Amino acid sequence: MRFWKKLAPFMVCATLVLASVGFSSCKAIGSLFGNGSSDDNTSQSTETSEDPEIRAVYELYVKSCAAENTEPKTYEEWLKSIQGAKGDQGDKGETGNGWLYGNGAPASTLGRNGDLYLDYSSWNVYTKDNGTWTYRGNIKGAKGDPADGGSSGDETATATMDIHFLELGNGNAGDCILIKTGNTEVLIDAGSKRGSAPTVVSTLKKYCTDGLLEYVIVTHAHEDHIASFVGETGKEGVFANFKCGTIIDYAKKKTTSQISKDYEAARDKEVSQDGAVHYTALQCVQETGGAKKEYTIAEGISFEILEQAYYSTTNSDENNYSVCTLFTQGDYHYLFTGDLEEAGEQSLVQLNPDLPHCKLFKAGHHGSKTSSNDVLLSKITPENVCVCCCAGSSEYTDNDENQFPTQAMVDRVAKYTKNIYVTTLSVDGTANKYTSMNGEITVSSNGIDFSIHGSNNDTILKETAWFQAHRTWPANGVQ
Ligand SMILES: [Zn+2]
Repeated sequence: MRFWKKLAPFMVCATLVLASVGFSSCKAIGSLFGNGSSDDNTSQSTETSEDPEIRAVYELYVKSCAAENTEPKTYEEWLKSIQGAKGDQGDKGETGNGWLYGNGAPASTLGRNGDLYLDYSSWNVYTKDNGTWTYRGNIKGAKGDPADGGSSGDETATATMDIHFLELGNGNAGDCILIKTGNTEVLIDAGSKRGSAPTVVSTLKKYCTDGLLEYVIVTHAHEDHIASFVGETGKEGVFANFKCGTIIDYAKKKTTSQISKDYEAARDKEVSQDGAVHYTALQCVQETGGAKKEYTIAEGISFEILEQAYYSTTNSDENNYSVCTLFTQGDYHYLFTGDLEEAGEQSLVQLNPDLPHCKLFKAGHHGSKTSSNDVLLSKITPENVCVCCCAGSSEYTDNDENQFPTQAMVDRVAKYTKNIYVTTLSVDGTANKYTSMNGEITVSSNGIDFSIHGSNNDTILKETAWFQAHRTWPANGVQ
């Protein structure tokens, strides 16, 4: 249903095309929108199976089935379901028949006996016999059941989904991303320091009002991704403030840090005392122990744990253990790779040869020079890139061009998009003074409409004063 917003203009377009080329079997399609003339005497037995316009409508039908995870009919079956609905109302000689269509059930005064009508808001098919339109079946539903008959053409493509890239209440790099559709939330990471917990918790409470985070994904065992799950005394973290449904986290870790031990203890307590379920990314991609590779969270929206080698192979860099998640919303894809570095990105691409074009990519490793490499970018050709960092902070280096977001990352991403957004801006790294850059970044979509807004402003990175003072936009970049 939802994809009719896209198909409706196509149908109008197709009508014009069909009318202009005099397509015989569908000549009457235009009559609904024209003067109602339907003087075609051509027999309805005209072969339509090879017509590219009909094929194009079929392709849209297949696409809509894919978006709804329903099995499409074969082209022949589909065609038959349309033609078959006409039954024996064949050629009526001087009156002729038409294949009509519109949004909603056909008006009783519409058409003439022998006409076939397709309701493009529901895919219901009617034929007109003895002056009355009779429902003949549904060409999309597997059972031909008119269950969708009540839907109207103004439905959106999928459920609405918002992605919030949180600010963390300090001048440190860290990830915390909340994805919300309806009452279902998926939280990816909760950095950046133990002291961030109150900021993280209060922000999450704005969006998660039922106290339950259905899914929690924890990419890897570094403090800037896990500290706010734990918090500290008087500043309790996510686990103490929310019930968690399914927790999916890293399969391997190298660090022996106290925060990682505290995270794991708190996670295990969620499981033993609060009913959470825990899987590693490896269990997900192997679908063992009840874990799944893909979870559907709303109509037309799912996320998939993507395979990469370092769920099961040792690597010298903790970042390469990052859990990688691909969200799909209708035709749109959003990729989250934690702090994955080049080796991990190479593996990700190798093991997922069908990685799609991504509407959104969370820059790997806070916009580090060692992540968001071309091996990955050239596959996903990102349209929008969000960076979770404190721009220009000296937290990790005094070398300006390697401070997040790095010049090297900008140079690589610029080939694909200028739409780069950054959460926070360093004012004084030594004093941990910071302010918002875009601020909390919110991405919203219904699978058709798409928007990105910052709580502070919507300015893309290359247009910011900070960028102009510290970075250059490459000549071969998208201008
Ligand atoms: Zn990190």
